[in-house]
Amino acid sequence: MSSTTHQLGIRVSGLVHLYPIPEGDVVALRGVDLEIAAGEVVALLGPSGMGKSTLLRLIAGLFNPSAGRIFLGEKDISQYKSRELARLRGREVSLVLQGATNNLIGYGTVLENLVFAADTKASRARAQELLETLGLAPIAHRVVRTLSGGQQQMCALAVGMVHDPSVLLVDEPTSQLDHVSRDLVVELLMRINAEYHTTVVIVTHDPHIASAMPRTITIRDGRVGAEGRFGEEFAVVGQDGTLQLPPHLRHVLPPDSLVKVTQIERGLELRLVEEGDHE
Ligand code: ADP
Ligand code: MG
Repeated sequence: MSSTTHQLGIRVSGLVHLYPIPEGDVVALRGVDLEIAAGEVVALLGPSGMGKSTLLRLIAGLFNPSAGRIFLGEKDISQYKSRELARLRGREVSLVLQGATNNLIGYGTVLENLVFAADTKASRARAQELLETLGLAPIAHRVVRTLSGGQQQMCALAVGMVHDPSVLLVDEPTSQLDHVSRDLVVELLMRINAEYHTTVVIVTHDPHIASAMPRTITIRDGRVGAEGRFGEEFAVVGQDGTLQLPPHLRHVLPPDSLVKVTQIERGLELRLVEEGDHE
């Protein structure tokens, strides 16, 4: 049985990305730092427009960042030329785009989709094996267009695994799905990680997926705002010392509040300055 022979972790530092548009630049990422260990499963969370897909596309090597570094294992891919990026995408990293059908040929069967994505003999053999391992053998000969949304998503994940990537990046895999399909997709992602030791990064804004993940990273305003461990969330102090307040506590210290910062045992106290406090 073929399986991933080398694992890769991901390290991102000071990542900035701008999209130039006629009205000026859109700043999608403004200094992201994060580290994901080889073989880890992580969910990237955050509301729409916060830069999650941009971060995923940069790690997938679709284009170069405006600034900052992206390491896959020991290799800094941030300045790779397009040919080097293409080689990387075919082997080490795999990106499953948002919307399962964007990754699939609708009129082909599940097996045909895998075989079509597999351009080498080794990966053709792997297509068969993947369907068995991932529990998709029963739908191998179904035409993709006739499958449910959940089945299509599972098929897209299998296609993403055809080259035996070290890193699997998945954008919003459950956004169109009901609860039952959503759980099946999450289960499949966990199974991929357990079977092949693939590093898995899932972008989502679904809090239900987040609670099923051992680790979550929340992107807010273009940087890492918080991290979660088994459902509990912690704020992350940025490189410049800034701290994003958890959204549910923002009303306590609204924007432009004057705050007195005092060191206490194992931390800091933030206290709103009231009229007359300075006397
Ligand atoms: P998310 O996946 O968290 O919704 P994105 O990474 O898609 O966020 O987008 C981050 C920001 O970058 C948004 O303001 C979005 O409008 C902008 N953006 C994304 N892609 C492009 C693009 N190709 N051209 C211009 N702006 C873009
Ligand atoms: Mg997105």
